[in-house]
Amino acid sequence: LKSLLKDPTLLRTQAYVAGQWVDGEGGKTFDVTNPARGDVIAQVADLSRAQVAEAIAKAEAAQKDWATWTGKERANVLRKWFDLMMENQDDLATILTAEMGKPLAEAKGEIAYGASFIEFFAEEAKRIYGDMIPGHQRDKRIMVLKQPIGVCASITPWNFPNAMITRKVGPALAAGCSMVARPAKETPLSALVLGELATRAGLPEGIFSVVTSSSASEIGKEFCENHTVRKLTFTGSTEVGRILLRQAADQVMKCSMELGGNAPFIVFDDADLDAAVEGAIMCKFRNNGQTCVCANRIYVQAGVYDAFAEKLTDRLKQMKVGDGLEAGTDFGPLINEDAVDKVNEHIEDATSKGAEVIFGGSRHNLGGTFFQPTIVKNVTQEMQVAQDETFGPMAPLFKFEDEDEVIAMANDTIFGLASYFYAKDLSRVYKVAEALEYGIIGVNTGIISTEVAPFGGVKQSGLGREGSHYGIEEFLELKYVCLSV
Ligand code: ADP
Repeated sequence: LKSLLKDPTLLRTQAYVAGQWVDGEGGKTFDVTNPARGDVIAQVADLSRAQVAEAIAKAEAAQKDWATWTGKERANVLRKWFDLMMENQDDLATILTAEMGKPLAEAKGEIAYGASFIEFFAEEAKRIYGDMIPGHQRDKRIMVLKQPIGVCASITPWNFPNAMITRKVGPALAAGCSMVARPAKETPLSALVLGELATRAGLPEGIFSVVTSSSASEIGKEFCENHTVRKLTFTGSTEVGRILLRQAADQVMKCSMELGGNAPFIVFDDADLDAAVEGAIMCKFRNNGQTCVCANRIYVQAGVYDAFAEKLTDRLKQMKVGDGLEAGTDFGPLINEDAVDKVNEHIEDATSKGAEVIFGGSRHNLGGTFFQPTIVKNVTQEMQVAQDETFGPMAPLFKFEDEDEVIAMANDTIFGLASYFYAKDLSRVYKVAEALEYGIIGVNTGIISTEVAPFGGVKQSGLGREGSHYGIEEFLELKYVCLSV
């Protein structure tokens, strides 16, 4: 991997604690593998719980000073950090693809997307406005201050190894908090390189640490039980989100949770069908189906059902599965064998209940964790995929007759992150957008992610929002000062 980088010093395998590069206790490490080839590409420091506690203590010491910096001073460092990410975009993307598998072009896109949160929140650092409220008595003045929460901890998944971290760190640091980040053990290298660039940008020691560890549950416990940590921000499954919320309850810790989705993607008969097919490709198959906003259930109105299925099949035929580091690859491997099992399980469950595979349907002949992009027809609400996120390249096509029916089916889930629909009729657009119980709605588009908009879910998809001016509020406390004059 080093030989593929323009700047090989960006590849870091020690943990990044308060500006220092540290080994795991007793030199302990864990392996990072390239999912496209199955080979070990790095051995990364495996920190103990006690080492993470030390990182938290250092984050506390550093944060006290950081909070006194002016917004503009913090903004300047963050802006420098952003610039360095973009200057090293190619190397960051190569590292990301090597450990995670997504095609290089997508990885580059993720670096730009991830960096955009640092840029955006650098700008927001200067705009953390408080409030003056007219007093309730003649002698009273009421001031509302916004202050950083303090030391924050993050736990992030492997599917966006860069952006899931920057989306949390950007607003936290802009607000005057410090952050101890625990990246997924599958993708620590993309997190560690952010530490290297943070040092180069002049971020004070301790404001950002990357605590790599193979034991997520141990670190999760430390984050929740350590009284210095004031805020936990998590992206991952609803299942783990629930565990963390329970643990965090003991010290009433503030939590932001970006959890699972089960996104419906609805194609009405008045939709621009070609646009809907393109949207479905982007939305279902981006990152090989491994995003929490990927379409999980594709509902197509009866009149255009067969035409949509045909067009989608034709489009998929043009796409290439392969090693993400090779040019021309559209879909990389899945992250691991469990991911392959899940896709197989959903396909088998659907076909055993009467659905029909019309494209793909099994492992790819490249072997490993490569899987064929798959389309399944005649899928119904009784099948597993209707309730459970596939997180893989299987597009299940459900048929529906009318608006009310599809709204009911789309909302029939415990999740409420992203949803999408294609339609032209204006009153239908309003009605459906208002009726879908989701935090994010894409209308005639399959791509909704941007740093300037609030990202987050309702129901069991999470708590809080990331990105946009709303995102920084998650890292601020309100303080009410009542002054008698
Ligand atoms: P995914 O399927 O995306 O890996 P998970 O929710 O399993 O979703 O994992 C998201 C992140 O949470 C990963 O970094 C994982 O290591 C971590 N994690 C898993 N279990 C726990 C736990 N009990 N406590 C804290 N973190 C955990």
